[in-house]
Amino acid sequence: MKYLSTRNSKIRVEASEAILKGLSDDGGLFVPEEMPTLRKSLKELATMNYRETAYEVMSLFLTDYTKEELTACIDAAYDEKFETPDIAGLHKADGAWFLELWHGKTIAFKDMALSILPHLLTAAAKKNHIKDEIVILTATSGDTGKAALAGFADVPGTRIIVFYPKDGVSRVQELQMVTQKGDNTKVIAIKGNFDDAQNGVKEMFNDKELAAKLAARGFRFSSANSINIGRLVPQIVYYVWAYAKLLAKGEIKEGEKINITVPTGNFGNILAAYYAKQIGLPVDRLICASNDNRVLYDFFKTGTYDRNREFILTTSPSMDILISSNLERLIYHSAGNDSEKCAALMKELKETGKYTVTDDMRDRMKDFAGGCAVQSEVAEVIGRIFDKDGYTIDTHTAVGARVAEKYREETGDDKVTVIASTASPYKFSRAVVGAIQKRDAKNEDDFDLIRELQRVSGLPMPNAIKEIMEAEIRHDTVCEKSCMKKEVEKTLGL
Ligand SMILES: *Cc1c(COP(=O)(O)O)cnc(C)c1O
Repeated sequence: MKYLSTRNSKIRVEASEAILKGLSDDGGLFVPEEMPTLRKSLKELATMNYRETAYEVMSLFLTDYTKEELTACIDAAYDEKFETPDIAGLHKADGAWFLELWHGKTIAFKDMALSILPHLLTAAAKKNHIKDEIVILTATSGDTGKAALAGFADVPGTRIIVFYPKDGVSRVQELQMVTQKGDNTKVIAIKGNFDDAQNGVKEMFNDKELAAKLAARGFRFSSANSINIGRLVPQIVYYVWAYAKLLAKGEIKEGEKINITVPTGNFGNILAAYYAKQIGLPVDRLICASNDNRVLYDFFKTGTYDRNREFILTTSPSMDILISSNLERLIYHSAGNDSEKCAALMKELKETGKYTVTDDMRDRMKDFAGGCAVQSEVAEVIGRIFDKDGYTIDTHTAVGARVAEKYREETGDDKVTVIASTASPYKFSRAVVGAIQKRDAKNEDDFDLIRELQRVSGLPMPNAIKEIMEAEIRHDTVCEKSCMKKEVEKTLGL
């Protein structure tokens, strides 16, 4: 199976090339040329473990990887790093099934894909006879940087350099990054905000002189960004796995349709659920849950995507996004896989900050429903599910839970619902403890709050948290935003 650019269907590459490149040269995203279908019946899938399910799903999409290559990647990724042998968890509360995607190394769902991406990438380099060492360059507002560091640490043939805004991440997030082990890792704080870090990284990717210097020393840049299909494909797996588990438990009948609700930012996770439906998983509605930054909610309601609005900082920061990059793939598919139409809309977005899709396109997006939950609702739902069911959820997952509830109330659709649970409550202890105890925990010490959360929730403290309480600080570089390139050159010895 080949991959095409969403902005030019004449650009056609193998899966491994798409993973190596990340983004197409024309700025488009790679999409599968045609959708495969599941080879195994749902009953057969219900007998498989996570790794076997991963092979079934990923081998449909990554067809130029051999069975040995793909199995090696899967085995290296989904092992004891995860604090549950099932890799993902499934917990019933508030009338829905929470699909816990946060049992990995950094206790956020990004681990599900970033645990395997480094292996897919190094295998791709080998297949394509690339001898260069791959240098991952990332700007982060918190979660992605740590998950990428943990994924790439000590993976032979790779280096990783992460930039974060010095005063723009939480204390826990900063500690998670600056204590990162691995001889191939480097973490740098910059005096600036996330946009400065992001722009600095983009400039380096486009810097021809730097590229030549890198090539001369046997390096090449690559990206661990969520638009890489090497991140998207592994995310399809857990939706198939969740359905199969529900079937195995006797909670649903074979072929019974379920709804899936996903707390959404960049539109990657929910797009994976859409792809799961396309390959034959019995899914009815895909419910896209937004926080106060409700640009996607408005889009599904009106057909107009408009990023010209105030950016709101919320208690679910990983969803504070006004440009959802992966939506471009849905735009392409709903335009009937028409790359010219898609390119025109993306041009409009770049020039005016908005675009409107046609009625035909909206018709093809009928699988999606949009919903939103503001911060007060998030706190309320965390408290209520804790009081009623003794189950603790984080702020992002709570956006999903509230939206799933509203959808049920408004439509009367009471199909079995899976909610993607995207982070451990320990990652956002301040807001979670505040919500459970119905008070303002704004000025309290992070570690006091973590211990308080452990006391009230009874949830075992994850290794990721224990580690930062004890680990030594290994990265202390702070630089001006104008010095990012110098730091990269220094790190790589250029
Ligand atoms: C990244 C992230 C999201 C948003 O996922 P997208 O794929 O960007 O839509 C939601 N919750 C958490 C905790 C995240 O880290």
